[in-house]
Amino acid sequence: MKLKEYQGKELFKEVGLPVSEGQLVTRPEQAAQIAARLGFPVVIKAQVLTGGRGKAGGVKLVTNREEALQQAKQILGLTIKGEAVTELLVAPAVDIQREFYLSITLDRSAHAPVVIFSSAGGMDIEEVARSSPEAIHKFHIAPLEGLHDYQMRQLCFAAGLERELFRPLSEVVEKLYRAFTRYHASLVEINPLAQSADGQLVAVDSKFVIDDDDIPRELQSWSQTASEDPLERRAREHGLQYVKLDGSIGVVGNGAGLVMATLDLIQLKGGRPANFLDIGGGANAKQMKTALEFVAADSQVRGIWVNIFGGITRCDQVAQGLVEAVGDLGLKLPLVVRLTGTNESEGNAILRAHGITPVAGMEEGAEAIVQRVG
Ligand code: GDP
Ligand code: MN
Repeated sequence: MKLKEYQGKELFKEVGLPVSEGQLVTRPEQAAQIAARLGFPVVIKAQVLTGGRGKAGGVKLVTNREEALQQAKQILGLTIKGEAVTELLVAPAVDIQREFYLSITLDRSAHAPVVIFSSAGGMDIEEVARSSPEAIHKFHIAPLEGLHDYQMRQLCFAAGLERELFRPLSEVVEKLYRAFTRYHASLVEINPLAQSADGQLVAVDSKFVIDDDDIPRELQSWSQTASEDPLERRAREHGLQYVKLDGSIGVVGNGAGLVMATLDLIQLKGGRPANFLDIGGGANAKQMKTALEFVAADSQVRGIWVNIFGGITRCDQVAQGLVEAVGDLGLKLPLVVRLTGTNESEGNAILRAHGITPVAGMEEGAEAIVQRVG
């Protein structure tokens, strides 16, 4: 799924990226009115799914109300690469000093996201790659490690950027990477990433492509083919109650009430749950394993809290399943486990024997996982 510029910018804002924000309109008079309210100069931009709008006449800088009205009319009459323009973004014009190109995309051969930067911003990256490949700088992000300072330092050095840009550019890359992972993107691009007259970096444009098989729940209304989350559907087929949320702490529990309480407590301690997952009352070792697999399959998950009340389910069985699952999956994520109820001490002994330290209380568990996920 591709997003329009204004949708992409909404997600940029969610992760704290500075954007030139505007308002969406559908009529020329509206455009003129909003432009006058924002104060000139203003840019009026066609909202279509294709790039290259500037070249096609779909992006215009205007300096007064009359011009805004005329240009809005003009742009609303355009068809850009087969797509009729029905929406416009009206935004305060950024006083651009310099334009950069920045994107993060999935390098499937390296199984890792790759950051691509060029100081020749505003231009099509394919064009830059052809005409001046030396102006393009790339590095991979190790998914479990994230962005390293030295990588950014190397990039700035290679691109010949001044020292002052190191910190702000690192922050922009970090936030863009957050957007990339949080929204299951296969591409996020800022072109141009503008340095304004006052030295700030601002995303003037946005390009966002989201993996069709993994559209986050909160974005499904933007998808023409809104459908159930594939992970949720698969979970249901395995007899698990799984709901994807947008945080970073994976949760496995049994009984809806306990799972709800677990989610609440994570939030209370400052964390964000990645999912709701109830493995049910009679959960066994096998189900424990499937549950962990589901939770770990979510690329946003940075740590997992397993919180089980052993009634019908015996804690030693759960612990056995857990230990096996961790081994089979090669799970490296921080793991916090709380087992209470039937055969609790046997269960905890199994965990300890495998290097997993159990927590005793709910509070302790929430604090431990929030602290370890950071
Ligand atoms: P695209 O052509 O579809 O990629 O649309 P962009 O949003 O990237 O806009 C095209 C070009 O218009 C940019 O590369 C900028 O040079 C210019 N532009 C867009 N917004 C602004 C703005 O706020 N201020 C200025 N000065 N130029 C802008
Ligand atoms: Mn652009």
